[in-house]
Amino acid sequence: MNVIIIGAGIMGTTLATLAKELAPELEVTILERLDHAGAGNSWVFNNAGTGHEANCELNYTPVDEEVISVEKALKIHAQFNIAKQFWAHLIERGAIKDPKSFINRTKHCTIVSESSIEELRLRFKEMSAHHFFENMQYSEDFDEIKSWIPYLMEERPRHEKMAATVIETGTDVNFGALTEQMAAHAVQELGVKIEYGTHVKRVHRSPTGRWLIEAEQNGAAIQHRADVLFVGAGGGAFPLLKKSHLPFRSRFTGFPVGGRFLQAPISAEQAELYRAKTYGKAAVGAPPMSVPHLDLRVADGQHYLLFGPFASFKPVLEKGRGFFDYLSSMRLHDIPGLLNVALEHFPLVKYLVSETFKGEKSMFEELESFAPGMSKKFNWKAIEAGQRVQIIKDGDLQMGTEILVSSDKTYGTLLGASPGASVSPEVMLRCLERLLPSIFTKDEAQQKKKKIFPEDDLDTLINNPERYREIRDSANNLLGIGQPDNQ
Ligand SMILES: Cc1cc2nc3c(=O)[nH]c(=O)nc-3n(C[C@H](O)[C@H](O)[C@H](O)COP(=O)(O)OP(=O)(O)OC[C@H]3O[C@@H](n4cnc5c(N)ncnc54)[C@H](O)[C@@H]3O)c2cc1C
Repeated sequence: MNVIIIGAGIMGTTLATLAKELAPELEVTILERLDHAGAGNSWVFNNAGTGHEANCELNYTPVDEEVISVEKALKIHAQFNIAKQFWAHLIERGAIKDPKSFINRTKHCTIVSESSIEELRLRFKEMSAHHFFENMQYSEDFDEIKSWIPYLMEERPRHEKMAATVIETGTDVNFGALTEQMAAHAVQELGVKIEYGTHVKRVHRSPTGRWLIEAEQNGAAIQHRADVLFVGAGGGAFPLLKKSHLPFRSRFTGFPVGGRFLQAPISAEQAELYRAKTYGKAAVGAPPMSVPHLDLRVADGQHYLLFGPFASFKPVLEKGRGFFDYLSSMRLHDIPGLLNVALEHFPLVKYLVSETFKGEKSMFEELESFAPGMSKKFNWKAIEAGQRVQIIKDGDLQMGTEILVSSDKTYGTLLGASPGASVSPEVMLRCLERLLPSIFTKDEAQQKKKKIFPEDDLDTLINNPERYREIRDSANNLLGIGQPDNQ
């Protein structure tokens, strides 16, 4: 059976790796329009590199009239612990030599000002009672918070009332470096083929029932045929779905959200003073993906600070692609859904448009209010981040991701953007189970799966503290993030 995957981002590359590990007899080919793997949204500075496990993101624990909901946070934390098992397996297998090339231990903090202190206190109370977050610490003491995150407090007036939480065992992940190394291993050791510079224009069913993939490679038209097709093309998945003639295609439209970061290179000594990712609270009307945060990042051994993201309205499917590509992915039946979103989410649209025209001066003002004194301390520049394309489904805007699998299990695709790369191994495992259920009926595949994922059951991780700690500690040790002195 041959499987074609469109897109060599973290999703497509993870799916290819898992498929070949579990069923070596499959022929797996990835078609990628760029010239290397992990160069789309997965690339290091196209995203914020937070290993999302709900340690610090307030939007994963919504509060409604003093009642806080932690279900989403528990799910994401459990998913991240499944991701770590997969990445630890890549280390054990020798696919990645040095875990520090992609994952580094980095404190995860949340900081809020006076008006949100009650909310943070409530969050801390609920979350620290669960074994996932038992090591979370909370403080309203200026000096204690300063000892956790000096760059945010050094020049803040002492009379400003703040509260913060910290979890020492968070991570910064270079998803681009991870994807590149995983792709090299998939090609060299597992026999996956990757064709770069191949832009897929259209996919449709041939009369024989196989998928016909029409692409352009170095200006020439080429075709591929596949028994099973997975489209992991980020925002590029929308136009391919639209042209697929699958019955559910008209239920989905893309809602693009662009982004920018402020970025500053810093020395290793300066990084010692701030080994953290600190999340604040999103402005009123702002989408959850624009929660401000100040992050220490590591890329190719060099340290950086990243602040943002500043969301914007940018009607393109992916960074580097034009407006026409987005426009040509629209159909007449998409217009009512788009209008509905524009009306129902008018504050969001207004926010995105106003953010689009924000100059560097306003970006620095935001940085100053988040971390006083920081804008002058380092040499910042604005950089363009990756492009998110959120899902409009049946006229409703959604902030998460969705895996779609056709009823005959020959077409799968991932739409949407969040929480994304952090949970990619769990999401791709579930996708494979739905798309190619036959491979899981074999004993060898089951044994292999158990070796890669000693515990892939979310409920067990959520409800069984001993099992969770055993799994977490084993993965953390292999990834070199178990000990406090790992930097
Ligand atoms: C501003 C921002 C911040 C983020 N921060 C985080 C974070 O902190 N933590 C986190 O976990 N996630 C974060 N994310 C999300 C994360 O980046 C994505 O979830 C992840 O990179 C998606 O991987 P992917 O493989 O689906 O997409 P991509 O990495 O974009 O890969 C898709 C690939 O498909 C290719 N492609 C597209 N169309 C075609 C076509 N027609 N033919 C051939 N190839 C095609 C593209 O070139 C690309 O290489 C962030 C995203 C953004 C935009």
